[in-house]
Amino acid sequence: MVVSKPLCYLSAIRCFACETSHNPRQLLSVCTACGMPLRVDYDLSRVRLTLATVRRRTPSLWRYRELLPVGEEAEQTLAEGFTPLLPVESNVWVKDEARNPTGSFKARGMSVAVSMAKQLGARELAVASEGNAATALAAYGSRSGLPVTVVVPEDTPAPFVAECEFYGATVHRVEGTLTEATRFLHQRGPKNAFELAPLREPYRVEGKKTLAYELVEQMDGEVPDVIVYPTGNGIGLIGMWKAFDEMERLGWIARGRRPRFVAVQAEKCAPIVKAFERGSDSTERWPKPRTKLYGLQVPAPIGGFICLRALRDTDGTAMTVTDAEAQRAAQTLASSTGIDVCPEGGAAWAAVMTLRESGFIGEDDSVVVLNTATGQRYR
Ligand SMILES: *Cc1c(COP(=O)(O)O)cnc(C)c1O
Repeated sequence: MVVSKPLCYLSAIRCFACETSHNPRQLLSVCTACGMPLRVDYDLSRVRLTLATVRRRTPSLWRYRELLPVGEEAEQTLAEGFTPLLPVESNVWVKDEARNPTGSFKARGMSVAVSMAKQLGARELAVASEGNAATALAAYGSRSGLPVTVVVPEDTPAPFVAECEFYGATVHRVEGTLTEATRFLHQRGPKNAFELAPLREPYRVEGKKTLAYELVEQMDGEVPDVIVYPTGNGIGLIGMWKAFDEMERLGWIARGRRPRFVAVQAEKCAPIVKAFERGSDSTERWPKPRTKLYGLQVPAPIGGFICLRALRDTDGTAMTVTDAEAQRAAQTLASSTGIDVCPEGGAAWAAVMTLRESGFIGEDDSVVVLNTATGQRYR
C-alpha cells in the first residue's frame, strides 16, 4: 500500500503517548510500539493559508484542505462540515452538527478517514458502532465505491440499521454491547477490511478537528471562551485541541489563546469525568455503562489520557448529567430555538445551566455548545 503522490503538508505521523514515528504512506491503525493512538503532524511553516483565502472556498470542511492529510484528487466528500453557528442567547451559540450528511458530526471524521483509506489502497471498510458512526461509514463507503460492513449492538435504534442498509452496507446485529459487536467484527467480519474504530486510526481526528477551524472562521478570528462537548471517545475534543495548537502556529489566533474545554459525560458512563476529578492522568474502565446517550456510551476510551491533557491544558473541566436531564434539556433547547437537538446535545446544554450556576461560565463568557447530531432517529 504505497503511493507515489506527495501527501500535502503532512510531515509525520507520531504516537500521542510515546512519540514513535510511523510511515505516513501506509494505512495506519495504532502505535506499533505501545498500541496508543497516532497523531498526524504537518509542516505548518510551509502552509500559506489565510482566513481570507478560506472564505472564498466551497462551504465544506475541505476548505481547510492544506491542514488535512488527503491528496486533493482523493477527497471523498458529501459536502460535510461548515455547519451553521446559531446564536441562541446573548453570547451563546450552538454549532449545529445535525446538518451534516447522515445527520451527525461523525461525517467529518469518516469523510477524511475514508478518503485516506481509499488513497492508501484499502479495498473494504468496517466498523462496530452504536449508530451514528455506522451510518456515516455506510454513506462514505458508497461515495468512495468501497464495500462496508457494520456491526451494531441489537438495541441500536432501528432507523440506524435501516439507513445503513439503504446505503448498501452489510449490517450485522449482535446480542450484547459494543464490546460484543467489536468481537464479532474481529472474529467473523471481513478479514482484509480497514477498520475505522475510534482513535484506532489517525485520520478521523483530522476530520473532526475542522470544527475548531470553522469556529474561528465563523467568529471572525475570535476564540470562544468555553466549548461544551458531549464526550464519548473524545475524538472531537482531541481534534479541536490539536487544531487550536495548529492555528496558533499558523498565526490565525493569538499566542496562548484557548477556549476552556468542557467534557460532558453520562452519569452512568463517565470514565473521563472520574479521572479528571481524581487528578489522574489516565482513565479506568467504567464497570457497567448504562445510558441512552448512545454517543457517550464509551466505558474505556483509548484516548482518555489525551482528553485529560486537553481539559487541563485549557483550564477546562468535566462533568456528568443524567439521561433524564439531557432529554429534558434537549427538549427545552429545541422548543425555545427550533434546533433539531439530539440527546447528547441536550447533555451539553444541561451542562451549560449547571456551569453558569457554579460560576465556571461567567456572564461575559462566549460559549459554544455542540449539537453533535440530529435527534430524529430517537423520537
Ligand atoms: C459519537 C458521538 C458523540 C461523541 O463523540 P466522541 O468524539 O466519541 O467523543 C457525541 N454525540 C453524538 C451524537 C455522537 O454520535
